[in-house]
Amino acid sequence: MDPLKALADAERKPYWLDSPARPEPQERLTGKTVADLAVVGGGFSGLWTALMAKERDPSLDVVLLEGRRIGWAATGRNGGFCMATLTHGLANGLERWPEEIERLERMGVENLDEIEETLRRHGIDCSFERTGEVQVATEPWQVEALAEQHAITSELGLDYQPLDREQVRAQIDSPTYLAGLWDRKGCAMLDPARLAWGLREACLRLGVRVHERSPVRALHDDGTLLTLRTPHGEVAARRVALGTGVFPPLLRRLRHYVVPVYDYALMTEPLSADELASVGWHNRQGVGDGGNQFHYYRLTDDNRILWGGWDAVYYNGGLVRPEYEQRDETFVKLAEHFYDTFPQLGDVSFTHRWGGVIDTCSRFSAFYGRAHGGRLVYATGYTGMGVGATRFGANVMLDLLSGERTERTELRMVKEKPFPFPPEPVRSPVIQFTRWSIAQADEHQGKRNLWLRALDRMGLGFDS
Ligand SMILES: Cc1cc2nc3c(=O)[nH]c(=O)nc-3n(C[C@H](O)[C@H](O)[C@H](O)COP(=O)(O)OP(=O)(O)OC[C@H]3O[C@@H](n4cnc5c(N)ncnc54)[C@H](O)[C@@H]3O)c2cc1C
Repeated sequence: MDPLKALADAERKPYWLDSPARPEPQERLTGKTVADLAVVGGGFSGLWTALMAKERDPSLDVVLLEGRRIGWAATGRNGGFCMATLTHGLANGLERWPEEIERLERMGVENLDEIEETLRRHGIDCSFERTGEVQVATEPWQVEALAEQHAITSELGLDYQPLDREQVRAQIDSPTYLAGLWDRKGCAMLDPARLAWGLREACLRLGVRVHERSPVRALHDDGTLLTLRTPHGEVAARRVALGTGVFPPLLRRLRHYVVPVYDYALMTEPLSADELASVGWHNRQGVGDGGNQFHYYRLTDDNRILWGGWDAVYYNGGLVRPEYEQRDETFVKLAEHFYDTFPQLGDVSFTHRWGGVIDTCSRFSAFYGRAHGGRLVYATGYTGMGVGATRFGANVMLDLLSGERTERTELRMVKEKPFPFPPEPVRSPVIQFTRWSIAQADEHQGKRNLWLRALDRMGLGFDS
């Protein structure tokens, strides 16, 4: 189908949030109150922090403040790939923390197992399916990269299944596939908005006071209490946890480390039984292709295909703006790539198109820290892989607040910070040149230019 025609009726809003299951917002914060712990941010990061704070100590008085609606930002707009990895993939983790990688992989799988267990315990229905993820190669250089990755996973004793061309096409049938690598345990598919709303319900049941439409505009420290001011109220808290993603931070130092990068996705109409049969996909895995600019795609519980990725756009100046959530140029490109991948689905059109903002940092995986004498903690920088990892990050924040040394707090990954981005006006041209270089590498069999090789040597990069 012509991409423009296929997109003509697609709503300009995130599919997951466009649901009758979306709950009414909780009351704004009004007046003055006190709390043991104030959590700022109602995405996965803040929700997991509030929930687990209560689970660790039910007597704790916890307030969660969300500037808009629970899950409205990246949390309600993502692909719903809930990954075990805590390091934005094995390769990135191995490169940065080789001596910790086995431990990080184990902790990541434990974190995913615990997410599954929490959903059961709190009765959260978010269509969680532990399908794993297949990486597919669509260019010869990617076949080699997958073979190298398989060698590493075998060395580490991880259960990844290599698939040749026929085997991968027997799983999911695309003429573009040359090979695949199936991580059978390390990823689950879920509905992210229903997860966020389920976590909100669980928080409320445990007694967390949740206030939506309550943006924190200022933070004041009197040496004992940290006071958070919203337009209509304030909370004086003994401890504060920031799960504020890439939004203008309440702690100035964070702006050096994270930049807003926009990622875009499409959702198809539900496939008919015949259309689904033409693709196969009996094991319903998530799929990611192997370029530097990659697509991610998956089935929903009613057999639509979410199709996202490719362009990771940094807008010069690094602002977060609602108008950046729509980008027709990218939607058309994504639709063309969809039909190239699945020519047998030429009659399928799209019902939704949207974008969302990612908290990219130069090491691609979250970083953590303390401020105000250890009474405030933060976790951000998930760089497009925070659906599962935010729960681990929430545990890190609670460990840091408690002052305890745990297996998590002793990790080098937790102790170290990423390399900061240069300030503007240098930041924008440097990032745009890096993005251009990445696209060039994909066009030249994965060959990285001098600039990317220099960044690689310094352990720096740009990703989504
Ligand atoms: C299109 C897209 C696809 C993605 N796909 C995947 C995927 O498949 N798998 C994966 O693992 N990750 C994916 N991600 C990334 C993932 O969604 C994020 O890593 C994760 O949701 C981060 O959660 P968070 O709570 O840290 O941030 P957010 O969801 O951004 O939440 C931060 C919240 O803090 C609030 N806030 C900020 N400042 C204040 C303040 N001062 N006062 C009050 N509230 C404040 C905001 O309003 C917001 O609700 C994707 C992201 C996008 C955009």
